[in-house]
Amino acid sequence: MHVVVNAAMSADGKLSSRQRDQIAISGEADFARVDRLRADSDAIVVGVGTVLADDPHLTVKDEQLCQQRLERGEPEQPARVIVDSNGRTPDDAAILDDAATTYVCLSETAPIDRRMELADHAELVTAGDDRVHLLRAFATLQEQGLEQVMVEGGGELIFSLFEAGLVDELLVFVGPKVIGGRDAPTLADGDGFIDEFPLLSLERVERLDDGVLLCWTVDS
Ligand code: NAP
Repeated sequence: MHVVVNAAMSADGKLSSRQRDQIAISGEADFARVDRLRADSDAIVVGVGTVLADDPHLTVKDEQLCQQRLERGEPEQPARVIVDSNGRTPDDAAILDDAATTYVCLSETAPIDRRMELADHAELVTAGDDRVHLLRAFATLQEQGLEQVMVEGGGELIFSLFEAGLVDELLVFVGPKVIGGRDAPTLADGDGFIDEFPLLSLERVERLDDGVLLCWTVDS
């Protein structure tokens, strides 16, 4: 499995405001890049925090890219994956519509009624006692044929993926905006590392819209 984390952050390293409202950080060129990256992926992963904050649809928007997927013998849309220990994803979330297959990764603590409701809209994967065990959940996703995986946030999930050693590439668009706020989500939140920091190698830098795209690989 190859895992690419993609995010847009403000010039001061925030993913959104302290109110966790979605903020436009990318411009048109970056949206088109993200759409292409989605189209090249088998699955797009987010944490339930992002689902609750942004209600994302996480589909490929460009019809030509969808057509090319079909021509390659792939589903028209990549699968969508939510990391959601207790099944907090609302039944009417956009990510649960029938535009693509959706997997919800739960832990053992997810209540049975939430499991039953979510099972009407999604494939369920259970891994972990009270929080999703990412290594086990991703192994199950790989068994389902999901090899090229794109993660679109948020900061809690991204930190945990680095902690689990699951990230192969990090793509960050840094946009021309200052959001500020000590409680605003950043690229990697969680508890933070105090030693054994994941190290990155810079592969490419590209000027895009009024910002910059940084492409890193994660050192093993
Ligand atoms: P998140 O990372 O999307 O989701 C975190 C939640 O996932 C956790 O609170 C936890 O909830 C669940 N989870 C289950 N297992 C986990 C594990 N092993 N490790 C980590 N999380 C696990 O939420 P977030 O950090 O609050 O990010 C949401 C914010 O980021 C929003 O403000 C959104 O607008 C912003 N965002 C920005 C971008 C961007 O590119 N600019 C992209 C995405 C999101 P449970 O305990 O309930 O399972």
